[in-house]
Amino acid sequence: MEITIFGTGYVGLVTGVCFAEAGYNVTCFDIDERKITALSQGRCPIYEPGLEEMLKRNLENGRLQFTYDSRLASKNADYIFIAVGTPENEDGSANLEFLEDAVDQIGKYLSRDAVIIIKSTVPVGTNQRIYQKLQGIVPDNIQVKVVSNPEFLREGSGILDTFHADRIVIGADDNEAGRAVADLYKPFGRPILQTDVRSAELIKYASNAFLATKISFINEVANLCEHTGANIEDVAKGMGMDVRIGSQFLRAGIGYGGSCFPKDTKALEKLTEDYEYDFKILRSVIEVNSRQKQQLFEKARELFGNLQGKRVAVLGLAFKPHTDDIREAPAVELIARLIEEQADISVYDPAASGNAADLFGSRLYYAENVDAAIKGADIVFIVTEWPQITQYDLERFSLLMREPVIFDGRNCYDLANAESAGLTYVSVGRKAVN
Ligand code: NAD
Repeated sequence: MEITIFGTGYVGLVTGVCFAEAGYNVTCFDIDERKITALSQGRCPIYEPGLEEMLKRNLENGRLQFTYDSRLASKNADYIFIAVGTPENEDGSANLEFLEDAVDQIGKYLSRDAVIIIKSTVPVGTNQRIYQKLQGIVPDNIQVKVVSNPEFLREGSGILDTFHADRIVIGADDNEAGRAVADLYKPFGRPILQTDVRSAELIKYASNAFLATKISFINEVANLCEHTGANIEDVAKGMGMDVRIGSQFLRAGIGYGGSCFPKDTKALEKLTEDYEYDFKILRSVIEVNSRQKQQLFEKARELFGNLQGKRVAVLGLAFKPHTDDIREAPAVELIARLIEEQADISVYDPAASGNAADLFGSRLYYAENVDAAIKGADIVFIVTEWPQITQYDLERFSLLMREPVIFDGRNCYDLANAESAGLTYVSVGRKAVN
């Protein structure tokens, strides 16, 4: 049985490597030749804990191969997973160009019956449309089926999430094809939910929108704490102890970012518009988040007035710890505003500096560690809660900065510790220390 994966990004690569680890023969294809060259040599182009070792192991045992030839990737495959990007169009809708291109390639070269499995996040109705499209491309003697299998892994724990998924959702209008894909996942031993195709497509968007809602909700409560004098850490703890609410995703902060929540909430909003349905909560979730992303900067502006010429250190660039992904990261928006203000900016991130350098080039100083980033700074912004930042010795802020003024978008430090270290410390949903 031959499995092929189209797209070797965070989702496709992790999926391919994990299927190989589970014992399958896997071929991964990507249109990015540099990625394929690196991967064929056992070098992982993204930062994902444990991935490179697993990649090397499965290259060596011959179960995993990479190719830049879409004909080779398609022709003998029994199962083809599509995990290409579905970024945001200007109007918020999902851009399906990469998906369409992948389907064209697959349809052109298929030489035997196959199941095409769409793992990319796509709007309701897409799987059905792709099925119809394929019917028009593949020769009559080849039977092709399309199954929806949205992905729920989190960057930074992609391997763990693949082997310990809470659920595997398989949406198929053809029972036999759905069962065949469910069988592929048997070695993982995780709960499988089989649904019709449209429900599977919506499960993905609804799940991300719900998690985004939790974040925007707790951020609104945090803002209310700042007005009322309550402490968000205690409020969130007290809420989360109720099992009906649950403690996850109740961390107030600078707002959600990344390659999924911002684009998926907007794509769902666009979908609701297409169906002329007014999904009021969703609109507020998006609006609250874009305001929240500005908040830390506005607080600094309130304290300092103009930031022109100020030495500013930004700690954390990735949208969350343990990844190098900076897509829609709050740090990127913050830095763009700091550049506009003509601040003098240094940054530190354990994994994402390279990606930030591709975006901002020489406009930033890329420090090797926290010490180097904050030395001589007037202001520090904390944007990502990497352990190197949360476990940093607070006394060193006073020691190394010109004036120890910290705006913490992730509530990394205890207020009493910040106070005793002599910091001016402004966080989210808690009283300011100075
Ligand atoms: P990514 O941008 O990291 O990777 C996409 C890859 O697809 C790239 O390597 C690109 O070169 C390749 N590609 C583009 N067109 C192609 C084609 N025609 N044929 C083969 N390869 C092609 O994207 P990602 O983060 O892995 O996300 C992929 C999909 O999974 C998206 O729909 C995303 O919304 C969804 N998703 C992502 C995550 C996540 O945490 N990143 C989690 C769940 C779902």
